[in-house]
Amino acid sequence: MTNSLLAPYSASLSSFFSSNLWDVIKNLSFFFLAVFWLAVAYWVNKDARRRIEDPWLIGTSTALALLFPFFGAIIYMLFRPPEYLDEVHERELEIKEMEARLGKRVTRCPVCQVDIDSNYLVCPVCTTRLKQPCARCKAPLEPLWQICPYCESPVAPQETIAAEDTWERPPHLRRSH
Ligand SMILES: [Zn+2]
Ligand SMILES: [Zn+2]
Repeated sequence: MTNSLLAPYSASLSSFFSSNLWDVIKNLSFFFLAVFWLAVAYWVNKDARRRIEDPWLIGTSTALALLFPFFGAIIYMLFRPPEYLDEVHERELEIKEMEARLGKRVTRCPVCQVDIDSNYLVCPVCTTRLKQPCARCKAPLEPLWQICPYCESPVAPQETIAAEDTWERPPHLRRSH
């Protein structure tokens, strides 16, 4: 009874599935699936080149996405490096720059805070006296030095400080009078 009732529907269904329209829908679906699969593989290749340096690993990732449609791309996303190569290089550069800065011992002017080189005598921006020059060879002397390391002449505390100098001598080198 039910069979006889459903007969017209199943007949129309089977005629629908055997129709040209169904073939067209089926082919279109396969076509779009194939396009999507290739697009995903292309995306995996592009993404891998931005994250991985080793060409063999890039090839393996792309092959994975091609050989196992969609599933391969998911596997790739689980194991891909978290950072882009650009970011890694940028960070390495920043670290190198920081190390160079520390190595050079870049100091700042105590008055205007501008970056100054360790052998400046005077701050070029605010003209604050930073160091005194050696009396003989004019090399910049550190405040604690008792003798010039370049020409071996002793540092005379009283004669090198001119009246207009704003540079302050450390307490232990100040004359007590
Ligand atoms: Zn300054
Ligand atoms: Zn000297």
